[in-house]
Amino acid sequence: MTLVYQSTRDAKNTVSASQAILQGLATDGGLFTPISIPAVDLDFSVLKDASYQEVAKLILSAFLDDFTADELDYCINNAYDSKFDTPVIAPVVKLKGQYNLELFRGSTIAFKDMALSILPYLMTTAAKKHGLENEIVILTATSGDTGKAAMAGFADVPGTQIIVFYPRDGVSKVQELQMTTQTGANTHVVAIDGNFDDAQTNVKHMFNDEALRAKLAAKKLQFSSANSMNIGRLVPQIVYYVYAYAQLVKTGEIAAGDKVNFTVPTGNFGNILAAYYAKQIGLPVGKLICASNDNNVLTDFFSTGVYDKNRTFRVTTSPSMDILVSSNLERLIFHLFGNDAAKTAELMEALNTSGQYDIQGADADILSLFAAAFATEEETAAEIKRVYDESDYIEDPHTAVASAVYKQYVEQTGDQTPTVIASTASPYKFPVVAVEAVTGQSGLTDFEALAKLHEISGVALPPAVDGLETAPVRHNTVVAAADMQAEVERYLGV
Ligand SMILES: *Cc1c(COP(=O)(O)O)cnc(C)c1O
Repeated sequence: MTLVYQSTRDAKNTVSASQAILQGLATDGGLFTPISIPAVDLDFSVLKDASYQEVAKLILSAFLDDFTADELDYCINNAYDSKFDTPVIAPVVKLKGQYNLELFRGSTIAFKDMALSILPYLMTTAAKKHGLENEIVILTATSGDTGKAAMAGFADVPGTQIIVFYPRDGVSKVQELQMTTQTGANTHVVAIDGNFDDAQTNVKHMFNDEALRAKLAAKKLQFSSANSMNIGRLVPQIVYYVYAYAQLVKTGEIAAGDKVNFTVPTGNFGNILAAYYAKQIGLPVGKLICASNDNNVLTDFFSTGVYDKNRTFRVTTSPSMDILVSSNLERLIFHLFGNDAAKTAELMEALNTSGQYDIQGADADILSLFAAAFATEEETAAEIKRVYDESDYIEDPHTAVASAVYKQYVEQTGDQTPTVIASTASPYKFPVVAVEAVTGQSGLTDFEALAKLHEISGVALPPAVDGLETAPVRHNTVVAAADMQAEVERYLGV
């Protein structure tokens, strides 16, 4: 029996895991979502001594069950190797009052590496399985981190091309340079005049455009996605929640069976949704705490049951969370109504036409797993400083949003459950913000701040940013958000 992945918007649109990975998004506009939860034996007396790769094998073989054991070994072993700066891959660090799960030890120093280092292997393996002759064109909108991590994974991978769109004024200088200096003959980076939501909406349009798909097919090309809308991104993210728990058991911080909370700095709702699936397969999770920045549409959603994107988009110091339409929430909505595609399609249509929807009648048990709050810019900076003062550790602004929200949560609820903060980026990716928060020094350039950060943290400059200042810029295309499709057609020659 293979696990069924169904479109959130059409009950008849069902595929296997490998097909879902190849397609990326369903052509009806929905997202492929597992409609049952596979059985996974989470025996922490064994898992506490398992390597990251072994935990990955356990989770991936359950969720991606039409891949063979050899195929998964090949993908896992090529993904989680010395591209990561520690053999632990995702270490748990104990700070005062919290545990930080470091998900930024891969080649682009953001958590996107956790899934994007394996996605190209999963995708090319799936293509081979299905005898695909078309070249795969990865079309991706990025709020800053996915773009670089996806290109790092797909650069020069035979049979693939990758096109990345990012909001010109919505990413840090380090993030931008990481992308515009990307090598690889099959990579194309485009800045847009618009924000991340514009980029993501237009990418979704292109996926759903039948005429465009036909033009591509005539040239033996087909789209897929490296965004967290692709289940091949989501499933590898389940792994580190299980692995983090195993590490806490191993170090004696908790006993097997004890509950743990996870606080996740959230944008597109992919990372926290992976934590939800970890809970569904039996990981002892208390609360999933959804942390937002000033773009607090999800905080309001969880407190009112109404999703309302009609609000001002704010550019913050945690740009990878500057999102008003959280794509993966659609998968939770689908589950909240008992995997009801018709209902989900109706709500997503409402979002499209009026910018809002109401989840009256949704599953209260699922909703009660979540807590949600947001941190302002001031609170985020203050949290970086607090953690530095108390634990001599520098968080990046996204992690600090989560950490600040967790602190609020404890003050409000008194919940003493051990809590893991998903630490999604290295402070080296956002050096100006990190240095200003710790030292009060403002007006530094990104590269002055990098040097300063090295001085105060004592942490070696990662290869991801070392030499970035002088690396040749290879991509400088800028288009209006409305011209994204024209740019894709021009670049692909269709
Ligand atoms: C992408 C990203 C997030 C948000 O993750 P989602 O899965 O989109 O919710 C948070 N922090 C960083 C650093 C990111 O790159």
